[in-house]
Amino acid sequence: MSQSFDLIIAGAGIVGAACAAECAAAGLKTLILDRGIVGGGTTAAGMGHIVVMDDSEAQFALTEYSRRLWLRLREELSADVEYEVCGTLWVAADDEEMAEASRKEKHYAERKARVEILNGEAVRRAEPNLRPGLAGGLRVVDDGVIYPPCAARFLMDRARRHGAEFRAGVAVKALLPEGGVALADGSRLTAGRSVNATGPWSPELMPGLPVRTRKGHLVITDRYPGFVHHQIVELGYLKSAHSMSKDSVAFNIQPRQTGQMLIGSSRQFDAEGTEVDQGILRRMLARAMEYLPSLGKLSATRVWTGHRAATPDKLPLIGPSLGHDRIWLASGHEGLGITTSLGTGRLLADLLLGRKTEIPAQPYAPARFVNDTVSHG
Ligand SMILES: Cc1cc2nc3c(=O)[nH]c(=O)nc-3n(C[C@H](O)[C@H](O)[C@H](O)COP(=O)(O)OP(=O)(O)OC[C@H]3O[C@@H](n4cnc5c(N)ncnc54)[C@H](O)[C@@H]3O)c2cc1C
Repeated sequence: MSQSFDLIIAGAGIVGAACAAECAAAGLKTLILDRGIVGGGTTAAGMGHIVVMDDSEAQFALTEYSRRLWLRLREELSADVEYEVCGTLWVAADDEEMAEASRKEKHYAERKARVEILNGEAVRRAEPNLRPGLAGGLRVVDDGVIYPPCAARFLMDRARRHGAEFRAGVAVKALLPEGGVALADGSRLTAGRSVNATGPWSPELMPGLPVRTRKGHLVITDRYPGFVHHQIVELGYLKSAHSMSKDSVAFNIQPRQTGQMLIGSSRQFDAEGTEVDQGILRRMLARAMEYLPSLGKLSATRVWTGHRAATPDKLPLIGPSLGHDRIWLASGHEGLGITTSLGTGRLLADLLLGRKTEIPAQPYAPARFVNDTVSHG
């Protein structure tokens, strides 16, 4: 027990790195530990869509706040973060989905997010490779894309410039109620507080935590510059993302600066392995080809999977854990952790330092799951 820190963060994914950057900048002596490398977990598997979502008022608040923080950081980001404000184009296949586009337009506009309704013709002009006959869509102007592993590294570099220390290849075995962590090698490190930012692995450090894994598949294509211009998502995606039980796929495609495209997305509960599920992959690509028929003529170079950390109410866990005010959480970001990493880091630092938060932090407080049993083994 030689060295003491104000804060030890377990997990150097994009969320842990964002927390480290904010906390170190605020003057906290911060150590961040990862059993692997920076951004090598779910962050490396994610799609990097910076997107405002409105599943709930709290989800809108955190995604919109985080997107603002990304836009503010834009000029400082290194080129390898590949931040492009390409906008999201939500496409409506029929009148029912068009009604959803209109509802979303009203909701976003009332909250001062820039949106634009497009009729079928305008959608076709914006994205000529989409199939003819779509009812229309909604463009969310300020959404964008980044390359998540480099963004995590950028945030970690920023944390280090503010004095934080990072140790790779160090596995945490337990977060200690008296402060600090026990490591897998049997040693201990002391700290005023520790933070569990281990994403889908966070229940390993806190058995009983209400976090389930939700597997996703992604495909990356060869280089086809200009094939699509926006992150395009079907409005049916919302049904898929909301379903808390069955396996689902939805059309979601992203243009990368390299001319490559990322194609998603799938969601499966209780699918622990990292292997590619050929059935799900087929369904996912078939869905994408329903929207972009000529996609079938292009080549894909790689397929991979990752596991989202899902909470029952689809909101992350940010703040002190139940019953142990020295053990904090920054976990449970499901399919939005790339977007919400910056908001999470800012909220966590504000809460730790007793500063006023810019958006209400209470909807993300782990204490909302007060009836669930969590231990800290
Ligand atoms: C297919 C897919 C697509 C996605 N697309 C998007 C998207 O477009 N936009 C978006 O906003 N989000 C997206 N997400 C979600 C996003 O990727 C995650 O929410 C985000 O990466 C979570 O980051 P994290 O830092 O919490 O977790 P991780 O990146 O998983 O980091 C956790 C870290 O903890 C480390 N760790 C684990 N256990 C220990 C231990 N005991 N000791 C030390 N270290 C440990 C791991 O090595 C890992 O580096 C997607 C996710 C998937 C799977």
